[in-house]
Amino acid sequence: MKIRVDRELCEGNSVCVALAPALFDLDDDNMAVPMVENPAAEAMAEAERAANGCPREAIALDG
Ligand code: SF4
Repeated sequence: MKIRVDRELCEGNSVCVALAPALFDLDDDNMAVPMVENPAAEAMAEAERAANGCPREAIALDG
């Protein structure tokens, strides 16, 4: 699985950081960035929570 954030859609509201603090952070431009590009299988549920919780649908999980 690979985590991607669409920077055109992200509005920097930190919902993903709150839901999955091990996987996301905000950069200097207040955009979410994945901290782990290819998370382990155990992190899948957390990544899905963040993707489903993003109000802008800016998070894609590939693979
Ligand atoms: S929840 Fe979505 S809109 Fe909010 S910071 Fe994360 S990726 Fe960006």
